Amino acid sequence: MSLRTKFMLALLLTGLAAVAMVGGLAYVGMTKKVDLIRRQQAADHFYDAVNAYLQKHGSWEAAVAAEPFDNYMHRADGRPDNGRPPREEDGQRSEGPPPEGPRGEENGPPEGRRPPPPRGPGAGGEPPFHFILTGPNYRVLLGAGVYRHDDLLPEASRKDARPVMVNGQVAAYISPEGVFTPSKQELQYLAAMREALIAGVTGAAVLALVLGVLLSRGLSRKLSHLTGAVRAMHGGSLLQRVPVEGKDEVATLASAFNDMSEKLARSHEELKNSHQTILAQAEQMRELSVRDALTKLHNRRHFDEQATTLFSHAVRHQRPFSMVIGDIDHFKRINDQFSHATGDAVLRQVGEILRSHMRLSDLVARYGGEEFVIAFPETELPQAAALCDKLRNLIEGFPWHEMHPDLKVTMSMGVYADIAAGTAEAMLQKADALLYRAKESGRNRVCFA
Ligand code: GH3
Ligand code: MG
Ligand code: MG
Repeated sequence: MSLRTKFMLALLLTGLAAVAMVGGLAYVGMTKKVDLIRRQQAADHFYDAVNAYLQKHGSWEAAVAAEPFDNYMHRADGRPDNGRPPREEDGQRSEGPPPEGPRGEENGPPEGRRPPPPRGPGAGGEPPFHFILTGPNYRVLLGAGVYRHDDLLPEASRKDARPVMVNGQVAAYISPEGVFTPSKQELQYLAAMREALIAGVTGAAVLALVLGVLLSRGLSRKLSHLTGAVRAMHGGSLLQRVPVEGKDEVATLASAFNDMSEKLARSHEELKNSHQTILAQAEQMRELSVRDALTKLHNRRHFDEQATTLFSHAVRHQRPFSMVIGDIDHFKRINDQFSHATGDAVLRQVGEILRSHMRLSDLVARYGGEEFVIAFPETELPQAAALCDKLRNLIEGFPWHEMHPDLKVTMSMGVYADIAAGTAEAMLQKADALLYRAKESGRNRVCFA
């Protein structure tokens, strides 16, 4: 169930419950109040009648002897209103005592309490209340169809009994009996009230629905901004902004979301930058670890690794492969004669000459001191020897005098090209032996095999 539907249902139920509760309480309260007022009016009316009847004649016995109570009431009132004293057709008369003498047969069994007569609107003009009239000794004079004449009014009913005083003495007690039965007119009032209540409930339901639709639409619109933004963040766009409307909890949430998104995007950017820096530094470190600091050529470790790979490839595919080792002639003298710095400059320049004449697939490195090594994949011995002689020539022919007028630099080289040697290392040893031979033969030359 969507939040919107839940919200609407909550409003609807709350509205209906509120109206039903208020309406129900009002209905019950009003019914009770009407009952109370009617009861009070009827009691007052009956009390006044009995009081006047007794005041006129002094006592109940004297009064009944002079004029039956019913006759008196008909004469005094003449209308069968709710508070009128009981009439003959109400069964009251049969309960009433004969002016004197014992109870008649119609009074029924002498003991016990009879159930109250049926009451209700339209029940043959049935009165809404009955009143019990007793003498000062609580002996029933008029039983209202509930007690028989001369019954003793139970203790429980006595507390509600109202005394009728004649000459300062209690001449009788009046006790209310029965429940309120609304008249036709009152029933109409109550029906009208019920209708108003139903109309109120219907109106509240409609209002709750309309309000629910409007409020939930606003709420779901605000939330859908947030949902969309969260989805976009999940998709990778971390910097999101949702509108902040009003000052409610959703607005607080939207504002916090915007802050969070901004911080997250900034952190992500910083993280990305530092990641790039780390990658660049790692690459730099890797480069440094495989390069010679002075000449910027690859170092010995890298050469050994790569030469092994190249050698394996050549063996596997039975391809030509040549290994070269070159050594600057009398380099010690250069250092001694011109300075160590000049020696370094010479090393750098020799390295540059070698590097600039290599193919992309060739591997050149400074092997240590003034020794350089080269691996030529896919290169036969004559080709490698020729290339080395060219390099030797280039070194010899470089304008060293620009560095120092007396400076001369040459290099001796050994070239070995038989992969049958077994390993790259073994090939290099063979090349080194040829280099030795080149040195022995007078330097500045290339020996190969
Ligand atoms: P040969 O012709 O027999 O190779 O004689 P050489 O003097 O070149 O050989 P030797 O092995 O006697 O001397 C090599 C010198 O290279 C000794 C060492 O001080 C110098 N050397 C080694 N590394 C460096 C360096 O990085 N810079 C400088 N300037 N000199 C270096
Ligand atoms: Mg050397
Ligand atoms: Mg040398």
